[in-house]
Amino acid sequence: MTSIATLGSHCSLQVLKGAKDEGLKTILVCEKKREKLYKRFPFIDELIIVDSFKEVLDQKCQSILEQNNAVLIPHGTLIAQMSSEEIESIKTPIFGNKWILRWESDRGMKEKLMREANLPMPEPVSSPKDIKNLVIVKRQGAAGGKGYFMAANEKDYNTKRDQLISEGIISKDETLYIQEYAAGVLAYLQFFYSPLKEELEFFGADQRHESDIEGLARIPSEQQLKSAKVPSFNVIGNSPLVLRESLLEQVYEMGENFVEAAKRMVSPGMNGPFCIEGVYDENAKFKSFEFSARIVAGSNIYMDGSPYYSLLYNEQMSMGKRIAREVKTAAETNQLDKVTT
Ligand code: ATP
Repeated sequence: MTSIATLGSHCSLQVLKGAKDEGLKTILVCEKKREKLYKRFPFIDELIIVDSFKEVLDQKCQSILEQNNAVLIPHGTLIAQMSSEEIESIKTPIFGNKWILRWESDRGMKEKLMREANLPMPEPVSSPKDIKNLVIVKRQGAAGGKGYFMAANEKDYNTKRDQLISEGIISKDETLYIQEYAAGVLAYLQFFYSPLKEELEFFGADQRHESDIEGLARIPSEQQLKSAKVPSFNVIGNSPLVLRESLLEQVYEMGENFVEAAKRMVSPGMNGPFCIEGVYDENAKFKSFEFSARIVAGSNIYMDGSPYYSLLYNEQMSMGKRIAREVKTAAETNQLDKVTT
């Protein structure tokens, strides 16, 4: 019997509930400190207790997963806590394409894939001295917006960078990525590509709430000007977003272009869940600053199914359940190699 395993964080509850609903065994790799929390959920069949998630790389953990014919579902915590080399060395089959996760973590590779997919992007700025308009300065990898800052020119950049270094938020030798700031309505577009059906599904959209940049918008400009703090983009939570129907065609087109580009650039392509993240401007033109090549935490909003999936499925379908459905179908038809790497 196939089982579904994941790390205890990010969207693990949704993933394992979906797997249980599909009749699969569920396994959670759980840090000792969170054992009490996860024991509350009866749909988790087995806990593998670890001191740190890195133990997934150990023989002991991998052999338990192997005995259970487990498929490991990658999410943001796996990316945040392990290097690309470590993820690629995991022996347990990983749902989707583990090779593409490296493209998500490296800013240069990320930009290359997004260009190949023809996604409209805010321009990168190669050096602080070239800052002409408002920019956002980011750290490498999935930092979740922590330590990011905005700058209007080189001087502003240097002041804020120095301040964040002195506060210990970023390090002196860190290479920062500078990108044109795109103003508008944030939209995180969530998709699922089925390698079995060779079909793209649009699952839903969400918005991220980020502190303390959002908090800043709630205070009058007089107080904003007096604040010496560099506001950050630390993700706190997500809320649902439903798009104007006239935008859907372009949404599918972007998703399809991304899937095609991934097939060309990083075999076997963008299988499973992914997310294109960006901003709609005043002309409803989308600019994408980021993608995630795996399930995003924003899908937690739709544990009972999303508005768009209720159009495609006559049942409640979360992203976790959709993943489990693909694994189950693949296992039943001897095609697990098509949905895992
Ligand atoms: P994650 O991996 O968690 O998605 P990340 O660390 O890779 O995050 P981004 O998603 O690139 O970071 O950026 C974090 C936040 O910063 C975004 O959610 C958005 O609010 C803001 N942001 C990023 N790039 C831009 C941009 N070019 N214009 C406007 N806002 C931006």
